[in-house]
Amino acid sequence: MTSDAASFSGKVAFVTGASSGIGRATALAFARAGASVAAVDIDEVGVAETVREIAEFGGAAVALTCDVSSEGDVKAAVKGTIEAFGRLDAAFNNAGIEQPVAPLAEIGASDADRLIAVNLKSVFLCMQSQVPEMLARGGGTIVNTASGAGVAGFAGQSIYCATKFGVVGMTKAAALDYAPLGVRINAICPGIVQTPMMDRFTGDTDEGRARVVAQEPIGRMGAPGEIADAVLWLSSDASSFVVGHAMVVDGGQTV
Ligand code: NAD
Repeated sequence: MTSDAASFSGKVAFVTGASSGIGRATALAFARAGASVAAVDIDEVGVAETVREIAEFGGAAVALTCDVSSEGDVKAAVKGTIEAFGRLDAAFNNAGIEQPVAPLAEIGASDADRLIAVNLKSVFLCMQSQVPEMLARGGGTIVNTASGAGVAGFAGQSIYCATKFGVVGMTKAAALDYAPLGVRINAICPGIVQTPMMDRFTGDTDEGRARVVAQEPIGRMGAPGEIADAVLWLSSDASSFVVGHAMVVDGGQTV
């Protein structure tokens, strides 16, 4: 990547799930690359901490508290971004929740509704508000977080898999809608990444971690920064010919 292509100087990035894990690492990476960052999350305390960390190295960021499954909240967050920074160039729609491991028939309908709302409908709501702002200023990029569970099935994860396959499908279709107009849309499919979500999944125990690492040909979990690097590449001019791609960054887990 040339330094020009990697620079987000003068650009504005919108990151959901910015309080924790992959979202926080990506918000910090965008800010380090020169972007002004709208840090968006339902966790008001966590998102303020992300903004504080960005301010510590002289970056610009605003904290926006938002439930990404709420149309009103998402519209307000995008509006807040424009009010704060005047434009929106790169969106990373990443907030998500995990499913308790259980076979399909044991999942409650209300749990399924919540997973679909937070992991899938949110991506629709975010893109619907973001795209017009990008079109109004000549274009932009969107990266949506899917998962290895968006390209392969995993036992005990039926609804989570459904939401993530849905993110991949929505990404590909929306990419076709907007590529001709200058908005490039792609998805990222992380493997097992060391985040608070993964700690909950493994029970934060050595045994739980060993069980998931056994699925990783590379022999370890990914770091949130390794996903952030890929998101910045997909958001940068270095990937200018990449459209509607579901980029798997998973240590070989789904190979
Ligand atoms: P995390 O739990 O560390 O962070 C998720 C963030 O999303 C949190 O800050 C949380 O407050 C926020 N969030 C949850 N519900 C929200 C809502 N309704 N509105 C706004 N914000 C909300 O998890 P993570 O591991 O960093 O996961 C980030 C994304 O990556 C998720 O979409 C997840 O499904 C996906 N993913 C994670 C892994 C992994 O191994 N960690 C693998 C594949 C995909």
